[in-house]
Amino acid sequence: MALDELTSQILVCRKCQLYQCANRVVPGEGPINAKVMFVGQNPGAEEDKIGRPFIGRAGKFLTKTLAEFGIKREDVFITNIVKHTSPQNRKPYPDEVASCLPYLIEQIKIIKPEIIVLLGASAKESPRVVGIEYCEIVHPSAAMRFTKMRNKFKSQIAELANKIAMLNTQK
Ligand code: SF4
Repeated sequence: MALDELTSQILVCRKCQLYQCANRVVPGEGPINAKVMFVGQNPGAEEDKIGRPFIGRAGKFLTKTLAEFGIKREDVFITNIVKHTSPQNRKPYPDEVASCLPYLIEQIKIIKPEIIVLLGASAKESPRVVGIEYCEIVHPSAAMRFTKMRNKFKSQIAELANKIAMLNTQK
């Protein structure tokens, strides 16, 4: 399946109840040949308004930190496990995760990233695909709030930048 076709399916999805209280669906964005995919848990209020992932305060912090370490946001694919926001940004229920997960699995199959970066709680629910390297990192919203977490987050992004540099030398 092509990425555009998959995105079209996500845009009209009604497989779980979450679409009912959301303004926009947030399929994810980035180049189809991205080597690195970032996966969060679900879109927040800002993302729900615009339909783009990680564009609120935490997303801006993530984008800024990536840039500090030479990683361009436009070079990576960013998405979430669950594509609609949830009421009061509660954690998605297991049945909602189960309904939405096939979209992420299909995105992974199409994009074929070499590294998947799991942000915070998304680490527990993300499928693991053989042959892809997984990095679990602190969620940017926690990194913004707590100095200790911020330092850890930055060192994890620095490590990721090194891995990407290695991939680029193997081209
Ligand atoms: S959260 Fe996922 S499964 Fe549920 S309606 Fe939205 S796109 Fe469909």
